[in-house]
Amino acid sequence: QAKQRGRNNFQWYSGDLNASVAQFINIRNQLSKAIETDQFSLVYQPKFDLRSGQCTGVEALARWTHPVLGEVSPNEFIPVAEKTGLIVPFSEWVIRRAAADFKRLVLADPDLPSVSVNISPLHFLREHFVERLAELLTECQLDAQYLDIEVTESVLLKDPETTVRKMLALKELGVHLSLDDFGTGFSSLNYLKRLPIDTLKIDRSFIADLAHNKGDAAIIQGIVSMAHHLNMKVVAEGIETKAQYSFLRRALCDEMQGYYRARPMPLEEVAQFLELHEGLTEPEDDEKRPTL
Ligand code: C2E
Ligand code: MG
Ligand code: MG
Ligand code: MG
Repeated sequence: QAKQRGRNNFQWYSGDLNASVAQFINIRNQLSKAIETDQFSLVYQPKFDLRSGQCTGVEALARWTHPVLGEVSPNEFIPVAEKTGLIVPFSEWVIRRAAADFKRLVLADPDLPSVSVNISPLHFLREHFVERLAELLTECQLDAQYLDIEVTESVLLKDPETTVRKMLALKELGVHLSLDDFGTGFSSLNYLKRLPIDTLKIDRSFIADLAHNKGDAAIIQGIVSMAHHLNMKVVAEGIETKAQYSFLRRALCDEMQGYYRARPMPLEEVAQFLELHEGLTEPEDDEKRPTL
């Protein structure tokens, strides 16, 4: 705390202004500098097939290490980047970095299916998003099939028609499509059936309370069944315990992601992880009923 006081432009107005406004202004000012001065990095979190245990891809998650503020969570800076338009250059940086890193990771695991990047709804809905992405992929020399675009379900609330159109164009391009944080956005099932989504990611909030909440278990089973009938795969995010893992397996969920198997890791660490865990599978334990 003491080292945050003093001459940095973070503290001096926070007494007068609403703290969140001050923080917004501060983050906005710092963000534009951050891209130029290399303060961002990416960590990668693997996801796994719940049957075979194989890694089914890695998700790129942004990290911002500010020289004074320290680690700033993406939950804080992404909304600011969205409101200021900085999300576009930021996001293009993420795609370029992830494309380059994917080539490194393929050396560790030649079967690695894809790298996922999170695209903010505002960026996704911008004009020429798909054309620009195609250009970027050409520039990075990454085949579209190795890129998975994760967009949150909330994109459907903002502009469902544009979402449908863009997703069809993205499938045309050949990228993999995932709907992130599914279950939190109350999206219309009417649109869901029209989307060429490959994967639904069940939001962590349904997993967290699984042991104590029968409603969550029912919702998860419903999502899995619906997704399979729509020819989509299901990933459960935020799996932290053996009991959650076992439940999702029995619920016939396809894939999992979470601290239980792997945390987000810097590039070289995830490369090492992939090398070690290639082909490693979880012991069969479907007979034992998990204690939930
Ligand atoms: P998300 O895409 O839903 O990512 C999952 C978040 O859950 C990540 O938080 C991840 O570190 C965390 N997580 C993974 N497994 C577990 C677990 O077992 N338990 C718990 N408690 N948490 C787990 P993170 O990295 O802080 O990112 C938060 C959100 O920020 C992401 O949610 C995503 O929406 C956004 N974000 C991150 N990187 C980017 C980016 O490059 N671009 C955009 N537009 N958004 C990003
Ligand atoms: Mg995500
Ligand atoms: Mg998610
Ligand atoms: Mg989430």
